Amino acid sequence: MDSSDLHQQSHAEIQAENLALRQQLEAILREARNNELKIRRFEQLEHKLIATRSLLDLVRLLLGDYKSAFGIDCVALSLLDRDHEASRMLDAELGADGPIQGLHLLQSDAPLLALHADLKPWLGPFKASAHAELFRGQARAADVASLALLPLSRHGELIGSLHFGSVDEQRYEAQAGTALLERLAAIVSVCLDSTLNQERLKLAGLTDALTGVHNRRYFEHRCLIEIAQARRYRHDLACLFLDLDRFKAINDRYGHPAGDAVLRAVGHNIQTQLRAGDTIARFGGEEFVVLLPQAPALHAREIAERIRAGIAARPFSLPSGEVITASVSVGLAMLPTERIQTEAQELADQLVKSADQALYQAKAEGRNRVVFSSS
Ligand code: GH3
Ligand code: MG
Ligand code: MG
Repeated sequence: MDSSDLHQQSHAEIQAENLALRQQLEAILREARNNELKIRRFEQLEHKLIATRSLLDLVRLLLGDYKSAFGIDCVALSLLDRDHEASRMLDAELGADGPIQGLHLLQSDAPLLALHADLKPWLGPFKASAHAELFRGQARAADVASLALLPLSRHGELIGSLHFGSVDEQRYEAQAGTALLERLAAIVSVCLDSTLNQERLKLAGLTDALTGVHNRRYFEHRCLIEIAQARRYRHDLACLFLDLDRFKAINDRYGHPAGDAVLRAVGHNIQTQLRAGDTIARFGGEEFVVLLPQAPALHAREIAERIRAGIAARPFSLPSGEVITASVSVGLAMLPTERIQTEAQELADQLVKSADQALYQAKAEGRNRVVFSSS
């Protein structure tokens, strides 16, 4: 081998090495571009998260937009909801729609504590013993091989958990970097806290301070939603108008605070007779309205009768120790199914008016009874 051979060989080696280096560099650049794209997509979603104004939007963003933007096979969200507050907020927006797939509202933090030993994201292989319930009902739940569990917390307390599942067992590995996921968990936690606060304010403006049930403003809003749903899905919609009988006499005899206590008890009593999608509101004074979506006339009449009988049969203990009874008269009207072209607002006015007229008749016929509207 002479010196020119040597030179040739090293030249070839250098070329091969160069090629390998260039390929490596390209792979790194590709990865960087990928990461940059991922970060940019992440930032776009981050902006959307921060802009959400309602709990429902936030939940949909995480379970829908986030899932498709990052091509995640399964996404689920667990939220601690001890006093059913989130459930009521979602219900107020969803109306008859729901439940939301992938969302789990928890009455205790035990399931969260079982998943999270600390407040750091956990990445690793799927284990049926611990994770079987996480993606319940989702199309690819049975094929999830790896997952990321992100604890959501405020002031050091767990308030929820966001779960990503992949059919690729290498997508979420224990040793993978979690910076982005940690950032996501922190942002979702803050957004959750802030939307809950906004919703609380909204709810406060829609709640009757004396009885704790919804107020007339909420009822009017909800009535339009329920009418739209009833028309779209050709469901029945029943409306009850309830008025306490001879309530002035209760005030006169036992005093206004006693009357207030009776109003509160009646509101509570009605509420306990209703299903999750039903609406009760204080319409004014000693009057309540109830909306029963998907209740055919016969069933609505049964519910009205049950509410009436329940109140008449229940003695109220006054703060003074005295025990009194009260009764309600009830007017019942069904949303007319044949006038499908009429504007929702007009239908709402008509529905309440019909129930009110039936109530008037119930009073005229002797009170403590249910009258079905004939109009
Ligand atoms: P009817 O069977 O015909 O309905 O008789 P009523 O006495 O219930 O009807 P009326 O409309 O004459 O009286 C309603 C009473 O309800 C008068 C009012 O003082 C009382 N009321 C309205 N709002 C409240 C409230 O917030 N607290 C209390 N304690 N009473 C109220
Ligand atoms: Mg009355
Ligand atoms: Mg009245």
